Parts: sequence; C-alpha cells; structure tokens
Amino acid sequence: MTSAVKREIEILVYGLCFLLFLGAIIDHVTLLLLIGLSVYLIRTLYNLNQLTQWLEKPSKTVPENWGVWEDVYYQLYHIYRRNRRSRKKLTNMLTRFQKSTQALPYATIVLNHNDEIEWFNPAARQLFNFYSKRDIGQRINNLIRQPAFVSYITKKRYKKPLEFQFNHQNILLNITPYGSGQYLLSARDVTQVKKLEDMRRDFISNASHELRTPITVMSGYIEMLREAEDESSRMPLEKIQQQTQRMENIISELIGLAKLETADEIDNPVLIDITALLNEVFDEAQTFDQGRHKLSITIEPIQIYGHYDELRMAFSNLITNAIRYTPEGKSIKIFTQLDDAGASVCVKDEGVGIRYEHIPRLTERFYRVDEGRSREVGGTGLGLSIVKQVLDRHGAMLRVNSKAGQGSQFCCYFPVMDNE
Ligand code: ADP
Repeated sequence: MTSAVKREIEILVYGLCFLLFLGAIIDHVTLLLLIGLSVYLIRTLYNLNQLTQWLEKPSKTVPENWGVWEDVYYQLYHIYRRNRRSRKKLTNMLTRFQKSTQALPYATIVLNHNDEIEWFNPAARQLFNFYSKRDIGQRINNLIRQPAFVSYITKKRYKKPLEFQFNHQNILLNITPYGSGQYLLSARDVTQVKKLEDMRRDFISNASHELRTPITVMSGYIEMLREAEDESSRMPLEKIQQQTQRMENIISELIGLAKLETADEIDNPVLIDITALLNEVFDEAQTFDQGRHKLSITIEPIQIYGHYDELRMAFSNLITNAIRYTPEGKSIKIFTQLDDAGASVCVKDEGVGIRYEHIPRLTERFYRVDEGRSREVGGTGLGLSIVKQVLDRHGAMLRVNSKAGQGSQFCCYFPVMDNE
C-alpha cells in the first residue's frame, strides 16, 4: 500500500471518528455518518470525472487537488511527460531518417508483409515513375510487372540481389527484411556500369579470338621449322615454341573465362555424380603427373547440384595447381567432406604454400605469388579466376588454407540450399 493511500485512510478514519464524536454530542450519529460518507463519495465521483476528462485529453496543466488525488495526478503527469519526450525523440529520428533517405541517391521503398508500398523516397519516384498519392498502398508487383522482378518478390529469396531491366534501364535491387514482416527495398540504375562491364568483356573476348588465329598459324610454322632445325636454331626455336604454347594457353583460358561470364545462369542445376566426376579428374591428374607425386582420393557421398563440365574444369584446375606447386615425391590428396552447413570438395598438398597476405588476391586475373615459378610450371595466372567464376555460378565459395612452406588446402564449399 502506498503512503498516499495510507494517508487517505488516516484522514477518512479521523473524519469518521470526529463525526461519531459530534454525532454522540448532538445525538444524531447515523445522520452525521451518512452525510460525511455522502460528501466523501461525491468528492470521489467528482475527482473521477475530472480524471477521465484529463485522460481523454492529457495536457501540461493538471487539475488542482489534494490527498491521494494529488499523488495520482503527480504520477500521471510524469508518465505523460516521459511519453511526450520519447514521442518527440521518435518523431525527430523519423524525420532525420526520412530526410537522409530522401537525400539518398538510391531508390528506397518500404514494403509491408503483403508487398504493399508504405513509403518511398524521391529517387524511387524517379526510377520507377511512382506517384505518392496513387501508389502508396499498392502491391509493388502491380506497378513493376517485369517477370524477373515478380518472380523474385513472389519467391521471397532475398539473399542474392536481383538485376533486371525496367524502362530500358538495368536495375540492381536488394531487399532486406526488418521489423515485423516489413521489407526495405533499395535499387539503383546500373546501366552505365553494365555497359562498361559488357564492353570490357567483349573487348577481352574479341581480342582473344582475334589473337587465336595468328598464333595457331605461327605454331604451325614453328613446327615446320623444328622439323628442319639445325644445332644453331634448336634452342631459339624451342623457346619460341614454348612461348607460343603459353600464349595459346592464356588465350584459350581467357576465352573460357569470357564464356563463363556471359553464360546464362544455371537455372535447372542437376544432381552431379560426384564420384564419377572426381574419378575422371583424378585419372587425368595421374596422367599429367606421370608418377611424380603420391596422389590419393577419398570420396564420401555428397550431393552437389550444378553443371558437370564447369565443375570438372574447376576441380581439375585445383589439382593441376597442386601438382605444379608441390615438390616431387610429396603427397596430394583429393577428398570430399560433409557437415551440417554443406558439402566440400578439397585438394590438399604438401607444396610450397602461400603467405597469408596473398591469399585474398589469388582469384584475381593474372595474380601470381611468384611470377617466375608460375611461368616455369606453365601457369597462365587465370586458373583460380576460372575456379572462382564457376563457384560463383554455383553459389559456392573457395576456401584457402595455407602457410608458406607448409602446403595448401583449397576447398570448394557448397552451402546447403535454403529458401531464403
Ligand atoms: P597459375 O596459372 O599461375 O597457377 P592460378 O590462378 O591457378 O594461376 O593461381 C594463382 C597463383 O596462386 C599461382 O601463381 C600460385 O602462385 C598460387 N597457387 C595456386 N595454387 C597453389 C598451390 N596449390 N600451392 C601454392 N601456390 C598456389
């Protein structure tokens, strides 16, 4: 019981005692008690009425009162002030958020759980031709009817961004769930970036195709010259042949990479017979290795969906690298692994290893840790870029574990597919 209520009871008891005493003197106890209690009841009803009026329209000024009612108003007034302050804070935050999102160059849209538009910024108005009055409350897929977008919104798999065409623009879109079933959609026009990227890809692909013919012709003539070589021309011809062979390798890998970049998405990935695939790659590796290393393979049954030839190329690149960068006599192991999060195909060697600062850059085109060694063993500097490209297309990742002088482990990690 609070002190205010105790005080109120005390006043009531004193009041009743006084009335009893007065009643006894004038010989009208019941009458006086009745009058006293009625006055108390009227006062309570009057205060209750004032309280309901104030609660309906709370304001800074509270009705003047005393006793327990003064205490009730004091508490209510503090709650009211606290609420006002946090409402003000929230409104300020909301205004700041709206101002900053309005200034954002990216189109920003808030969707509710039914995919209906709750709010959007001026950039969204411009990018998607929205109108505030007309489009707020509309389902977004009624306004953006592009099939790729509609399917993305319907499937609700928002982990990967979506690139799609709208009004002759290329749009890159991200959707992030937040709050209770709401979504924040952010989009930007990447038409120019895509154009430049396409130009770069086309240039590399065209240049590689153009270079292929002269190099094939040169190779043919070098073959001819080598048949008629004498002692003095043997060494230079051998060098020329090695270099043309290198160029041929680089060109065919560049063409392969360009093909992977321009290929359509793997829409219907099939279950890969991983045992057959890895055994095929292993047989090839044995032929390439010619008994210089101790090669072994261990296959646990794992399920991988995707494109057979692309995966074969990726695993084959990893094994070829292990053979190239491992001294003779050491062992190279190919194995598969399975855990709750996914399946992996790994190649582990006891080779030269890689210092940690190089590891993040290994999949860049033409990045080599040791250029001389790469050339010596016939590397092109493109093998791991191809591996990365293939894995990206399969939603997989390359994990590299290595230390200089202590061998390396390259794992292709295929996470379990989920519906997000
Ligand atoms: P390259 O054709 O030069 O081998 P890659 O793209 O396949 O090009 O590999 C990039 C670089 O990564 C290589 O030049 C090499 O320095 C390093 N590398 C790749 N695999 C291994 C490995 N198993 N052991 C040590 N270094 C490696």
